[in-house]
Amino acid sequence: MAEQLDVVILGGGTGGYVAAIRAAQLGLKVAVVEKDKVGGTCLHRGCIPSKALLKSADILATVQKSKDFGIQVEGNVTLDFGNVMARKEKIVGNLHKGVQSLLKKHNVQVIQGNGTVMGPSIFSPLAGAVRVEKADGEQEIINPRNLIIATGSRPKTLPGLTVDGTHVINSDHALELSELPKSVIIVGAGAIGCEWASMFSDYGVQVTLVEFAPQILPLEDEDVAAELAKLLGRRKTKVKIMTSTGVLADTLKIEGDTVSIQAKVNVGTDKETIETLTADKLLVSVGREAAIDNIGLEATEVQIDRGTIVVDEHFRTKEKNIFAIGDVLNTPQLAHVASHEGIHAVEVIAGLNPHPINYAMIPRCTYTRPEVASIGYTEKHLRSEGREIKVGKFPFRGIGKAQVNGEIDGFVKMIADAQTGDLLGVHMIGQNVTDMISEAGLAALLDATAWEIGLAIHPHPTLSEAIGEAALAVEGMAIHY
Ligand code: FAD
Repeated sequence: MAEQLDVVILGGGTGGYVAAIRAAQLGLKVAVVEKDKVGGTCLHRGCIPSKALLKSADILATVQKSKDFGIQVEGNVTLDFGNVMARKEKIVGNLHKGVQSLLKKHNVQVIQGNGTVMGPSIFSPLAGAVRVEKADGEQEIINPRNLIIATGSRPKTLPGLTVDGTHVINSDHALELSELPKSVIIVGAGAIGCEWASMFSDYGVQVTLVEFAPQILPLEDEDVAAELAKLLGRRKTKVKIMTSTGVLADTLKIEGDTVSIQAKVNVGTDKETIETLTADKLLVSVGREAAIDNIGLEATEVQIDRGTIVVDEHFRTKEKNIFAIGDVLNTPQLAHVASHEGIHAVEVIAGLNPHPINYAMIPRCTYTRPEVASIGYTEKHLRSEGREIKVGKFPFRGIGKAQVNGEIDGFVKMIADAQTGDLLGVHMIGQNVTDMISEAGLAALLDATAWEIGLAIHPHPTLSEAIGEAALAVEGMAIHY
């Protein structure tokens, strides 16, 4: 009989495959069950393909203003969307091969097939064995010591708003478009909706971005959201932003190649009206839901609350040998969250005692043009809690490198406790801020105060100087503003 595996991971997405590699590094015998492709949503339908498309949009926007840099491009700059998509496919393909070879290098067994969690059975008195159905119809039962559920999520829709994949689409369909629509209504202005709005409008598509909350990027600081709304609205191909607006799903009409839907505008105010929105396509980006139905959990004691799996701070479910990580939980649905949760879970399985994850200080990034990045609490949240705070803000226009780059929009905003100077939030909008937010993450991990961030020497000329200046601005001591 084959040796019992220490851990099986159901789902080989970012959470699952990273957990498997760490498990192997810790000397555990590990296998991943994957029904599609290792790399999961992030690699095949999320982070990577969307950023590849955004990068092409960014290049297009840069080339269109090449004159500002003294560079004359002869003739019209044209877009070859087919090649944009082909480039995206190539990047995804390369990274997919990379993940496959990493798993091989670490001797992680990948079992291809659809897995279902089993309750107590003849194979084990504990729940947590997995039945795998393979493409050829063959079935395999694996009975590991521990199971990690990492089956991820899928796009949500609104009740009544049927996604047909042609006129009404979600992000999976948008990533596979063979040609650009002339116009699109995007329902939902979270990170994914805003990224699509930014990208489509850079490609010359007329975008109407609809959001029920009073601001776009509802989880972000309101100053940052307002700045992004202003910048998206003042582009050559403007994004029309409709906040405090709810679409009325049952008014959806598809006539020929046109989609129309009614929307309630200025919801909750005395200016409430109904408007009809029309476009070639409607993209639904109202969030994602955990993919945990049909995986057999009803045969176990694993608890589900409002559609997500309930775990303790070490990602253990009510079944002591079953863990869950990533998008199946009620934690931020981000790739780096999934992978860190996966690492934490296998470290617990290996008998280590890792620190609980500090969810308040997880970096959140939105890859619009310009980018948005943050950690910690928003100013509005802290004020609503009655916290005494100090806020420092520094605009990129005061930074030499931003002037050199021709990208002076945006700012860094830092929030600290008024008495202790402890870092409570960092909110940035501007070029490359998604690469810069890690400094704030490290500062938070090391318990640095805002002032200590200001003491760190930031090289000149770099965009990161804006972080140092914002930190000094918390004490009213910024140099260049
Ligand atoms: P997934 O990556 O969804 O992996 C789950 C895996 O489980 C899949 O491979 C699936 O095939 C497999 N599976 C499911 N059920 C079974 C079964 N029964 N048997 C076997 N296998 C199964 N996050 C970021 O941090 N940054 C970004 O920029 C970003 N951009 C995004 C853009 C878009 C358009 C989308 C949709 C998402 C984006 N995300 C981003 C979110 C990120 O992709 C997810 O948070 C991350 O992929 C979650 O990882 P996971 O391992 O929990 O699940």
